[in-house]
Amino acid sequence: MSQGRGLLIVYTGPGKGKTTCALGTAFRAVGQGFRVLMVQFIKGSWHYGELDAAEMLGRDKFEIRPMGRGFVKVGGAATDPEDIRLCEQAWQFALEQIHSGKYELVILDEINYVISYKMLDGEKVAEALARRPEGVHVICTGRNAHPKLVELADLVTEMREIKHPYTRGIQAQRGIDY
Ligand code: ATP
Ligand code: MG
Repeated sequence: MSQGRGLLIVYTGPGKGKTTCALGTAFRAVGQGFRVLMVQFIKGSWHYGELDAAEMLGRDKFEIRPMGRGFVKVGGAATDPEDIRLCEQAWQFALEQIHSGKYELVILDEINYVISYKMLDGEKVAEALARRPEGVHVICTGRNAHPKLVELADLVTEMREIKHPYTRGIQAQRGIDY
């Protein structure tokens, strides 16, 4: 059980480490007996190691729900209505789970990203998260966190890129990036 008021946490910024930071927290939380849910708003193109690792811990302890589609075309009129629908569906699902009493920690992976591309309304998300049940911690990840979320959050960390292997043409590494 978490004690008292759960925290609203935001991991944002252009540097690497937002999702891995949320996963690290999940790992820690599971060790403390928390039940953790991660809802993924954007489905990655690789098979991510964390999907299997979460299964190893057991779905009753850590569940990851990939909800979006693999590839998302965004920006004004180019945004596919189907992606917006899936996004809204993922958000409604996440909100229900936050209120379900089943989890002490809920991670909304890449929600900042989908908000920044107007696939979800940032003001509405922030207001709903402010009304979450007492004991539930929520982590929002993704670039360009909405100002309202930043304002409401208890903890905001911005990942700043100092170096990234990608800029030297080094591809994503198994076990590190996926
Ligand atoms: P990670 O999942 O590794 O913690 P992240 O959540 O901080 O990364 P995202 O914006 O979600 O970063 O990026 C998705 C993918 O792009 C990840 O596989 C990540 O390794 C890779 N990535 C992250 N930052 C950079 C960057 N600055 N340049 C190139 N690729 C990046
Ligand atoms: Mg990420």
